[in-house]
Amino acid sequence: MSWTEMALNGRILVVDDAMENIQILHAALQDEQEVLFALDGARALDLARTQHPDLILVDAMMPGMDGYAVCAALRAAPETRDIPVIFVTALKTPEDETRALDAGAADFITKPVNAAVVRARVRTQLTVKRQADTLRALTLTDPLTGVANRRAFDERLEAEWRRCARAGLPVALILADVDHFKAYNDHYGHQAGDACLVQVAAALRRGAGRTHDLVTRYGGEEFAILLPQLDAPGAEGVTHRLQAELAQLGLPHAASPTAPHITMSLGLSSLVPRDAQGANVLVASADTLLYQAKAGGRNQYRMGGAGALANAGGQVS
Ligand code: GH3
Ligand code: MG
Ligand code: MG
Repeated sequence: MSWTEMALNGRILVVDDAMENIQILHAALQDEQEVLFALDGARALDLARTQHPDLILVDAMMPGMDGYAVCAALRAAPETRDIPVIFVTALKTPEDETRALDAGAADFITKPVNAAVVRARVRTQLTVKRQADTLRALTLTDPLTGVANRRAFDERLEAEWRRCARAGLPVALILADVDHFKAYNDHYGHQAGDACLVQVAAALRRGAGRTHDLVTRYGGEEFAILLPQLDAPGAEGVTHRLQAELAQLGLPHAASPTAPHITMSLGLSSLVPRDAQGANVLVASADTLLYQAKAGGRNQYRMGGAGALANAGGQVS
């Protein structure tokens, strides 16, 4: 996205109890932004949650829930916390300004509004927001394969573990490690090894395709696939799909003692979070099972956890 593009075509939510004020802001912005509007705070919070605006312009003074309360409620919810807010206010004392900034406002515009000023302030905040979004995405992405990285995995695991603990639902995890990858590098070269990991990651992504599934590069040639709300038999089904996608790739591995093509060993575990157990028990369990799959001859999986046959596993051709 270019510098100019970053400032345009945002989704802007305008919140004001007076329709004529919404019309003025809409007229100022409509040529370069998509404009949504709400006439009260409750509706604004609802739209913020469901429509994911890039930026919110809120009237400071509204009956019932005022702009400060809207801002505080946005800050309190994880899914709306990062949406920047610009206050639109007739008040202009230093106390009003500091109060707005203390409430978490990114900027404020004084009434009566000037269309050119509104456009400029909106462009600036939109650019800052998009730069922050881009940076955040970079910190969560593995640059080689384009899948999520270890940091993203740790964040999501914690969040899903807590969510499933509250709901009494299982969380499944598959740890998948490329077999004899050191030999692959030695035989084909490190760059070919990199290209292989890119293809393996893409295959895993095709295999774990539900919207909440997360394929991550856990480290080196090891991938972690997080499957919220899936029991062990469900995770076993995903494992079969991952193996099928891998087989479909058919990447030659002439130096592998296991098979003439790239294979993986997998450990899969599904647990319902209990008591004060941390998510690390799930990782430890999948890791132990992965180790067993390696020790059992590689190119296979071992599974454990809720609903699994004790130490069940499968060999692949
Ligand atoms: P095993 O079947 O027991 O998993 O054997 P392995 O050779 O796959 O495991 P080992 O841990 O001995 O070696 C992993 C190799 O993966 C060594 C390392 O150089 C390679 N590797 C890790 N990250 C990358 C990467 O980003 N690119 C490439 N090309 N190689 C990598
Ligand atoms: Mg390996
Ligand atoms: Mg490894």
